[in-house]
Amino acid sequence: MKITFLGTGTSQGIPVIGSNHPVCLSKNKKDKRLRVSILVAWDDYVYVVDCGPDFRYQMLRSGCTKIDGILFTHEHSDHIMGLDDIRPYYFKQGDISIYAHKRVLKALKVKFDYIFTTKNKYPGAPTVISNRVKNKPFKLHNLEVIPVNGKHNKLQVFGFKFGDFAYLTDMKTVKDKEIEKIKNIKVLVVNALRIEPHHSHFNLDEALSFIKKVNPEKAYLTHISHTLGFHDEIEKKLPKNVFLAYDELQITI
Ligand SMILES: [Zn+2]
Repeated sequence: MKITFLGTGTSQGIPVIGSNHPVCLSKNKKDKRLRVSILVAWDDYVYVVDCGPDFRYQMLRSGCTKIDGILFTHEHSDHIMGLDDIRPYYFKQGDISIYAHKRVLKALKVKFDYIFTTKNKYPGAPTVISNRVKNKPFKLHNLEVIPVNGKHNKLQVFGFKFGDFAYLTDMKTVKDKEIEKIKNIKVLVVNALRIEPHHSHFNLDEALSFIKKVNPEKAYLTHISHTLGFHDEIEKKLPKNVFLAYDELQITI
């Protein structure tokens, strides 16, 4: 299985528009972060987790010529607003499968009504096949995917376990019962926004104590704000099995 980090930044991305913060002005490529998303590829299959406003550029940059579906963690704008840009895939492949919580499917229908409508549909609009995700394992071809339930302040969010890899973003609280699903996994990706606490995201300390509980072989941090600091400086301070993810990083599991 090959994972590509399409984006590793928080909702505004890095650099933030108009910001003079030193991290936003950094020349280091690893300090430039598009909105969070990953590509998960195995055998001949390619899935994307979340489809934010940078989706078009991320798919061009990764050279991805087809997708088998999109999984959504939750309905916040930085995770969904690229959905219109599935059109090139839709024109080539036909209807695109999406996987999300019932509430998220509903939110997508409100924001992208022209994609979901069946009446007087605009000829250039894409069509999706909605698959409802419950907190139960489901199959993507030959792979079992296990949802991991968590809370983003009060909002329910799904993380996903694909074999020996788990991807969790926008988490603030995860119950022990859910942590059991990913204990001792090979590779864990989890959000770490900044040093200071935040009402709906793990800060760095919370992410590190979460990683201790999960006890993965390796962990990567994502959904990073410019206020976390420079990539190279923060990474030096992390435990030896914990790394900062960065855009275009690829890992094989
Ligand atoms: Zn987010």
